[in-house]
Amino acid sequence: MKPNSQGLKQRPSHDTEREFGGTLGALCIPILLPLTVMFLICVSRSPEASLLQWPPALPSTDQLWDPLALVLLLGWISLHALLYVLPLGKVSEGLVLRNGTRLKYPINGFHSLCISGVLLMLLLGLGAPLGSLFELLLPLAACAIAGSYLFSLYLYIRSFWVPSHALALGGNTGNPLYDFFIGRELNPRIGNFDLKYFCELRPGLIGWVVINLGMLMKEVELRGSPSLAMILVNSFQLLYVADALWNEEAVLTTMDIVHDGFGFMLVFGDLAWVPFTYGMQAAFLVVHPQALSSLGAAAIIALNGIGYYVFRKSNSQKNQFRRDPTHPSVARLETIATATGKRLLVSGWWGLVRHPNYLGDLLMALAWSLPCGFSHLLPYFYVIYFAVLLIHREDRDERQCRAKYGLAWDTYCQRVPYRIFPYVY
Ligand code: NDP
Repeated sequence: MKPNSQGLKQRPSHDTEREFGGTLGALCIPILLPLTVMFLICVSRSPEASLLQWPPALPSTDQLWDPLALVLLLGWISLHALLYVLPLGKVSEGLVLRNGTRLKYPINGFHSLCISGVLLMLLLGLGAPLGSLFELLLPLAACAIAGSYLFSLYLYIRSFWVPSHALALGGNTGNPLYDFFIGRELNPRIGNFDLKYFCELRPGLIGWVVINLGMLMKEVELRGSPSLAMILVNSFQLLYVADALWNEEAVLTTMDIVHDGFGFMLVFGDLAWVPFTYGMQAAFLVVHPQALSSLGAAAIIALNGIGYYVFRKSNSQKNQFRRDPTHPSVARLETIATATGKRLLVSGWWGLVRHPNYLGDLLMALAWSLPCGFSHLLPYFYVIYFAVLLIHREDRDERQCRAKYGLAWDTYCQRVPYRIFPYVY
């Protein structure tokens, strides 16, 4: 590849507002979040499991490095890269890019999940000690974090060789620290292999449920059978991951794919943060078993069911409306016109609050923590973090929608005053 002069000369030509605290955020987040991952893993296996354990006991080098972890991680990513390129499932087009073209994406993430599931069952049948993932969690996370830095550096460097229309509008400020963090290139590809799309839902997300299964197997090793709490956590999170992959096509219209560049923020989020912190409840349960009554379990299942229903219905309604507004399931909904030609839903799920999908997601997040009881705060880390993330994300999205739709967006906000929680926020 030859450096592209346009790319090299890119200045902060787009007066974009800096996000995530600008340069300071870009300096602190890549240091603090990886430390948080390691801290949470260490704390979750300590007897106290207290988030207030400060300063935390530092893990030894032996605990952080295991060559097996590196081999497993590279093997796992290679397996998914192979599954990605297999001619399975359909091929979909993304949204129109700034240069008027559309990229093609394989929709075969659900196939990857199923094949991974079959391979895991075979390995278990052959006696593979999946429960050892519990001991390997720290070195696996260390490798994933180190890999995220290296991969982001590669993405940052290669972005200087692409034409300017291939850069994300918000990732081209000219400040190396910020651009490395937020991501310069919108859709980095090696041939037809889309690096951002690949990382978004595959190795990390499927890795998360494999780690959960490893924790369940560890419980079986320790106590003879999995607990009800562990089964619920595993099932809820498997449903969430399977749903994301079943509806993989919908990711093509999300902010991550359409708007954000591919830099440390997304790389680390996809490959390290999601698999190693989202499964914190299962890791916690290995060391802190919880008794759960049938009534308690039924209430938690109901909460997860309601959350899933709101999440799925609202996401599907918007996707359907954006794909085909004349479809019978959405044609009768009330809408308002915008100057862009696109319309905004003001009834149905999107008339309840401005982000009903976030509401459903948060109800599910709470249901994943409740099986861990009320004795510790740690298993609630995910729901607290996720509420902060979605409130921040909602704010980012509002700003983008206000810029896109102007007055029409203000009218929508007047008609639907609450953002995520009806009558609360
Ligand atoms: P959304 O699916 O919420 O999409 C936001 C976009 O929808 C807006 O930019 C706008 O785009 C369109 N829109 C907004 N309001 C309306 C309306 N009234 N009528 C029609 N279109 C409207 O974006 P996200 O990517 O944030 O979320 C997708 C899902 O992923 C959510 O369920 C979220 O909870 C989940 N998620 C999960 C995360 C995790 O870590 N587990 C992280 C982030 C998200 P336009 O008008 O241009 O179409």
